[in-house]
Amino acid sequence: GWGSVELILGPMFSGKTTELVRRVRRYQAASKLCLLLNYKGDARYAEAGNVVTHDLTQLKAHPVETLEEAHNRVWQYDVIAVDEGQFMPDLVEWAERWANEGKLVLVAALDGTFKRQPFLPVLQLVSLAEDVTKLKAVCAQCHREAAFTHRKSPEDAVELVGGRDKYEALCRACHAQSSTEM
Ligand code: ADP
Ligand code: MG
Ligand code: ZN
Repeated sequence: GWGSVELILGPMFSGKTTELVRRVRRYQAASKLCLLLNYKGDARYAEAGNVVTHDLTQLKAHPVETLEEAHNRVWQYDVIAVDEGQFMPDLVEWAERWANEGKLVLVAALDGTFKRQPFLPVLQLVSLAEDVTKLKAVCAQCHREAAFTHRKSPEDAVELVGGRDKYEALCRACHAQSSTEM
């Protein structure tokens, strides 16, 4: 049978990982076999092999650098959940392939960089997905809805893994203001 792709997008701190974990737990409760993949380069938290959300909920996960690394295990599962999808270089091809092979593929990812530029593979996957959710955080400056990530430090590399020390979620107005100040 055919599967499908569900995307969970939004800025940092919008609860993407929390929502991914919530969906996985729901399928686990229904006895579906779930494989949770997270990004190997994310060393924010000491315990490798667990997905940890900003609210510190934990779940067993398998750290990978590419989705291809997981392909030989995927056949055993009903649900494949991918966290930090923006860092997986082969996101589009494997998500599409696994869905075509009957898997429910859940992907949590940043849709935009801290400069509000697109993460292209993530946006390509929007065209191939059955369902897309964009979550919002609370603006760290004005408490409105925050759809964007802002880097507080001056480093310029696109991939800079970090938490509250390096990033905050901001609304459109506060993001525009903070970007011109830098
Ligand atoms: P994401 O995976 O999108 O980065 P998580 O699911 O890991 O998000 O974490 C969301 C959690 O982050 C919230 O439950 C909350 O405890 C925390 N948090 C920290 N800063 C903010 C903020 N500005 N707005 C909303 N949640 C925040
Ligand atoms: Mg997350
Ligand atoms: Zn704001």
